Amino acid sequence: MIYLDNNATTRVCDEAIAAMEPFWWRDFANPSSQHAMGQAARLAVERAREQVAGLIHARPSEIVFTSGGTEADNLAILGVLRANPARRHVVVSAVEHAAVHDLARRLAVEGLRVTFVPVDGEGRLDIAALEAAVCDETAVVSLMHANNETGVVFPIAAAADVVHARGAVLHADAVQSAGRLAIDARSIGADLLTLSSHKMHGPKGAGALYVHGGTRIAAVAAGGHQERDLRPGTENVPAIAGFGAAAEVAGARLAVDAARMAALRDGFERDVVSRVRGAVVLSAGAPRLCNTTSIAFEGLPAEALLIGLSQRGVCASNGSACASGAMEPSHVLAAMGVPPALADGAVRFSLSRETTREELREAVEALSAVVARLDAGRVRTVAAIG
Ligand code: PLP
Repeated sequence: MIYLDNNATTRVCDEAIAAMEPFWWRDFANPSSQHAMGQAARLAVERAREQVAGLIHARPSEIVFTSGGTEADNLAILGVLRANPARRHVVVSAVEHAAVHDLARRLAVEGLRVTFVPVDGEGRLDIAALEAAVCDETAVVSLMHANNETGVVFPIAAAADVVHARGAVLHADAVQSAGRLAIDARSIGADLLTLSSHKMHGPKGAGALYVHGGTRIAAVAAGGHQERDLRPGTENVPAIAGFGAAAEVAGARLAVDAARMAALRDGFERDVVSRVRGAVVLSAGAPRLCNTTSIAFEGLPAEALLIGLSQRGVCASNGSACASGAMEPSHVLAAMGVPPALADGAVRFSLSRETTREELREAVEALSAVVARLDAGRVRTVAAIG
C-alpha cells in the first residue's frame, strides 16, 4: 500500500517501539509509586518530558502529558476559562480541527460568547478580523498552527501580539506542525501549545500541552496530583516513553525531512496538475506545511475518488468528516469559500518522512486512472439521461 494519509496518523518509528517495550512488562509500575519499580517508570516519564520539551525548545516543567491532541485542546480552552471566570469570551478560527471547533460550538450553546474568525480564499487567517474580535472580555484565543486539511500555516507570533494586547491567553494547536515545522516555544508567542504523539511517528494515546510559565490555567478533570495538578490520572507510561523517543527523532531530522517532503510534495502537485484534468491545488498561494496537499477534482465526488485510489493501493483522505458513515461537507473548505462542486471533490494527500518519489509516481498513475474511469462513467450517465 502507498500510505499518503499521514495527517490522520503516522507509522510508529522503530525508536518509539523500542522505547515503549520495557514499560509493558518489566517496568510496569505506577510512576507515582515510591518504590524502586515506580521510580523506574517515573524516570521514563521525566526523560520523555525532556525529549518532548526539546522538540519545541521549552523547559521540561512546561510540558503536561495528556492522552492526545484532543484532550490537550480541551484542557487548554476549558482550563483557561476555569481559571479566569471573569472573562466569558472565546475566539477561535473558522477552520479549527473538531477538537477545538466542536468545543467552541458547544460553549456557545452553553451561553458563552464565541467568535469564529474568518479566513480568506486560500485559508489564511484574517488578522484584522482577529484584532476586531479580541477584547478585554476574551479569556482564550485558540488558533491552529497548521491546518490538518490544507496544511496552511497561521502566523502565531503575529496573532500573539494581538491577543496579549488584550490580556488574553493564546493557545496554538500544533498537532500537525510539531515535528514537521521548527517550533520555538520561546519565540512563537503562544502561552499554550498542543502536541500529539501519533502525528510524529509516536504511538497513539499520548499528547502534551505546553504551558508557558505563569499562564493562568486550571485542571478540568478532578483526581490525583499528576502532571502539575493539571491532568490527573495515572500516566500512560509506555505511550509517553514512545512519544518522547519519537519527538527526539523528529527534532533531530526535522530540517532535512521537511525540505525533502516539501520537494516531493511540490513535484507531486506539478505531476497531478499536468496529468489529471481539472485538478486544482487548494491553498497553493498560502504558506503551507511541507507534507500536505489538498487537491480538488471538480464534479467528482471525493468518496468515489478515495475508493478508487484505495482499490489501487493508495491511501488518501478527504476534507470531510466521516460521521456515522455519512460524509459531511468540510467546514474548512466552506470557510474558505471553495464552491461545493469543487469542495466535494477535494482529496488530501499527506506525506511522511518515509514517503518516496516512486510511491508518489505510482499515486499519480493511480489517480489519473481513477479520474479517467469516473469521467467516463459521468459521460455515460449524461448520455443516458440525454
Ligand atoms: N488538532 C489537529 C489540528 C488535528 O489534526 C488533530 C487530529 O487529527 C487533533 C487536533 C486531534 O489530535 P488527537 O488525534 O491526538 O486527539
